Amino acid sequence: MGVNVNTSTTTHVETHKETHKPGGAPARYAKGRYARGWSRAHRWTAALPRLTFWFMLAAVVVAVAGCNRPGGAPGVSVRTSFALGTLVQIRAYGSKAREAVSDAFDRIEAVEALMSANVATSDVAAVNREAGGLPTRVADDTLYVVKKARRYGDLSRGRFDMAIGPLVRLWGIGTNHARVPSPEEVAAARSLVDHRDVEIDETRGTVRLRRAGMALDLGAIAKGFAADRAAEALLQQGVKSAFIDLGGNILVLGSKPDGSPWRVGIQNPWKERGATFAVVPVRDMAVVSSGTYERFFEQAGTRYHHIIDPDTGYPAETGIVSATVLARRAVDADALSTTVFLLGPSNGMRLVTQLPGVQAVIVTQDRQVMASPGLRGVIEVSKGWTIRFYGASDAQES
Ligand code: ADP
Ligand code: MG
Repeated sequence: MGVNVNTSTTTHVETHKETHKPGGAPARYAKGRYARGWSRAHRWTAALPRLTFWFMLAAVVVAVAGCNRPGGAPGVSVRTSFALGTLVQIRAYGSKAREAVSDAFDRIEAVEALMSANVATSDVAAVNREAGGLPTRVADDTLYVVKKARRYGDLSRGRFDMAIGPLVRLWGIGTNHARVPSPEEVAAARSLVDHRDVEIDETRGTVRLRRAGMALDLGAIAKGFAADRAAEALLQQGVKSAFIDLGGNILVLGSKPDGSPWRVGIQNPWKERGATFAVVPVRDMAVVSSGTYERFFEQAGTRYHHIIDPDTGYPAETGIVSATVLARRAVDADALSTTVFLLGPSNGMRLVTQLPGVQAVIVTQDRQVMASPGLRGVIEVSKGWTIRFYGASDAQES
């Protein structure tokens, strides 16, 4: 069919190299987790080629980590595993770092069990099965995420739509059955997508989809929420410094152990994974990107990516290649990176600058970089890149 499925998702790299330094931060890996992660190759969209890629990458990571001192110095723990259909890495510092990281992975798995559309026993699957029928009682966490999704749906006038399920299924992007649907199929699926038809009853703790055939999809927000829950687990074990990477959804806790800020790289959309064009030094911050390069397939020379405009039913064309959002909580940064992508450069920046404590970096198809004013003097861009700040007439060059 001439279809290629791209396998990359991670958008951020942490630029310091501590993990792989011989004798540096020791790593700990739970064997068997790979097998478990592998057998749960369902995720939001059963992305087999992607998982194969991650599986191979994980093998490389383990090999590198194997060079580190076994046992290692007390107080640091690094672990890499599959969860939420992506490669998750957590590095934590503290006297109970091992327990903390273990708890953090448990929390992430709990979020997956509740919010993956592809886990038959999840809240999302239960709500979807009852579409057009009865309200479904869901966990407090699910209710919280659905309420957040409703908020970003409202803020974007429906561009961000948690009821995007029928269109996500139809396109199958990121799965091995991705294809370009017919206009009739698109129209039929599109008519079932409207977040205002998601009924939330806060007192009863229920969610209901008004019409049969509707389907929730929390793929644009659940990873962020999982990162927040992981951070909570780390804090409860006394961890004050940590780096959480959920397939490119970055959340840092505190600063680096030496007191300097964590440095989060922003992926160059045209280069191989890990090649960045900018770095943001941050403390206690989430940094999340959404982009066309993350998950897509190509057919007849056209690229179809995984962020769908609910108005057209087709992958959103807003001139943006990647949208990165910084916010205190990863749930907000995750939802907002997708929202900004869907809104386009001007409307996206307008929204971001209205939200306290939120910053954004947008890269457009014509290689322009725009950042919110709060990043002036903070963001570091690589040589050859020029950055403009929203609302300003001047530009900053590296
Ligand atoms: P990633 O999952 O690659 O990190 P995003 O956070 O941007 O990327 O989320 C993209 C996912 O969000 C899609 O795979 C799909 O599950 C879901 N999605 C697609 N279009 C929309 C939309 N208009 N509103 C809300 N969620 C969407
Ligand atoms: Mg998102």
